[in-house]
Amino acid sequence: MHTEILQNRLRGALITSLEPRHAAESDALIWNGRKPARRARLIVRAACAEDVAEAIRFAAGNGLTVSPRGGGHQFTGIAAQADMVIDLGALDGLTLDVGRRTARVEPAVTNLRMAAALERHGLAFPLGHCGSVPMSGYLLGGGVGWNSAEWGFACFSVTAVEVVLADGSLVTANATDHAEVYWAARGAGPDFFGVVTAYHLTLQPARRAITTAIRVYPASAALAVAHWAETVMAKAPASVEFTTKVTPGPDGPVLAAIATVFAGTEAEAGTIHAALAVGAPEALQVIGPMPAPFAALYEASDPSMPKGRRYAVDSAWSEAGYGEILGRIVKTMAQAPSGDSMALAVLRSNAVTTPETAAFSRHGRVFGALYAIWADEEDDAENTGWLRAGIDRLTPLCTGAYVGEADLDRPDRALRTLSAEAAERLAILRRRYDPAGLFHRRSWPAAVAAE
Ligand SMILES: Cc1cc2nc3c(=O)[nH]c(=O)nc-3n(C[C@H](O)[C@H](O)[C@H](O)COP(=O)(O)OP(=O)(O)OC[C@H]3O[C@@H](n4cnc5c(N)ncnc54)[C@H](O)[C@@H]3O)c2cc1C
Repeated sequence: MHTEILQNRLRGALITSLEPRHAAESDALIWNGRKPARRARLIVRAACAEDVAEAIRFAAGNGLTVSPRGGGHQFTGIAAQADMVIDLGALDGLTLDVGRRTARVEPAVTNLRMAAALERHGLAFPLGHCGSVPMSGYLLGGGVGWNSAEWGFACFSVTAVEVVLADGSLVTANATDHAEVYWAARGAGPDFFGVVTAYHLTLQPARRAITTAIRVYPASAALAVAHWAETVMAKAPASVEFTTKVTPGPDGPVLAAIATVFAGTEAEAGTIHAALAVGAPEALQVIGPMPAPFAALYEASDPSMPKGRRYAVDSAWSEAGYGEILGRIVKTMAQAPSGDSMALAVLRSNAVTTPETAAFSRHGRVFGALYAIWADEEDDAENTGWLRAGIDRLTPLCTGAYVGEADLDRPDRALRTLSAEAAERLAILRRRYDPAGLFHRRSWPAAVAAE
C-alpha cells in the first residue's frame, strides 16, 4: 500500500500506524475515555470534501474499510472501528441565510457554536443537549434535540445533504435528487453508506422566553411524579420538554423533574409553568422557573457528562406509561456501581407526529437513556454489566433504541434502532451504493437488522 500517493493528493494530513504519534492521535479521535480495542491503520484528516473523495478512492483501491468521524462522540467509539478513519473535524463551515431561515453546516460545527450563531440572528434549531456534540453524527442518527417535541427530531429539518459516496462521487441529495440517499442520511447513523460533508437545514424563529423549572424528589416519589407528569403533559403544548433526571444519592436515587418551556414571551412561559405546577407532588426543593437560553441550557447539562470519563450508554423508546419506565429506571439507579452515573426519562406525550419520510423510524412517547459513567478501567466490566442489566429491565416495555445513544458493542442487542421496513430498505440501499462494503463495520447488521 503506497500511502505517500494518498498523502500527495490530500490538502489535509495522513497519519499512518507507522508513526509514533499514531496511537495518541487515534485515541484522541474518540470522546469517550474508554477507547476501542481496535485502532484504524490510517487516519485521514480531511481539509475539504475533495480530500474525503481522495481518501475513499484510495481505500476502495486498497481494500480498506472506512469510517467517517465527526466528533467521535458515539459512546461505543465506533468512529475508529475501520481500517481508515476519515476525520471531518476540520470541516466546520457555517453559513446562515437569515432571511430565508436556512443554514449550510459542515460536520464539525458543534451545538454550542451553532446555538451562539443562531441566537445572534433570532433563530433556533433543535440542537442536541450538550454543547460539544457536532452536527455530523447527531443529524445522521436522527437528532433528539432541545424542544424536539415541537420542532421534531432534528433530521426532519435537514433539506439536503452533500455526500461523498463509496465510488468517490460528490452528490447533493434532497427530496428530488438522489432521494434514496437523502432518505438514508436522516436516521441511518453509523450504517449510512457515504460521508456527509455538509447539511442544509431549515431553521426556526428563536424563542425569546426559554424557561426551566426543576423539582427535586426522593426515589419514593417516583410514581407520584410520573402520575403528575402524565396528567399535566396530556394538556401541555408541544413546546414543553419534560425530563426526569435520576442520579444516585447517599440515601438512594434522587429525581430531578425538569420542565423546560420554549415560549415566545415571558407571559406565555409563566402561564405554561403555572399549568404544569398543578398537582405537583411536594418537592424537596423547587428551583425556578428561571430563564434558560441555549447557553444556560448547555452550562447546566454539560457538567453531567464530563469528557475523559469512561462511558457505556444505551437508550430505549417506549409506548408504556411513564411510571412504568421511571420505576424501572429508579430500580436500576439504586444499583449503580458508580455515583457519577445517571439516567434520563423523557415524557414525549405532547410531541408532534413524526413523519415517515426518513430512515429514522424508531421513537416513542417515552425516551429512556442510561449513562454508566466511571473513572477506572478496572471497573469497566462492572459498569457495562450494570448498564446492560438496566436496559434488559426496560426492554420488555420498549419498541427500539436510539442509534446515537445505543450500545453498539453489544452482540446480543434486543432493541433495534430502525423499524423492520426501514432496516430492510437500508440494507438494499447499502448493497446498491456500497457493493464492496467499504463502510461495512463489525456492528452491522446487529445494530439495525430487520427483525
Ligand atoms: C456528551 C454527549 C451528549 C449527547 N447528547 C445528545 C443529544 O442530546 N441528542 C442526541 O440526539 N444525541 C446526543 N448524543 C449522541 C450523539 O448525537 C451521537 O453520538 C453522534 O453520533 C455524535 O456525532 P459525532 O459526529 O461525534 O459521531 P462520531 O462518533 O464521530 O461518529 C459515529 C459514527 O457516525 C457516522 N458518522 C458520523 N459523522 C458522519 C458523517 N459526516 N458522514 C457519514 N457518517 C458519519 C460514522 O459511521 C461514525 O462511525 C450525545 C453524545 C455525547 C457524547
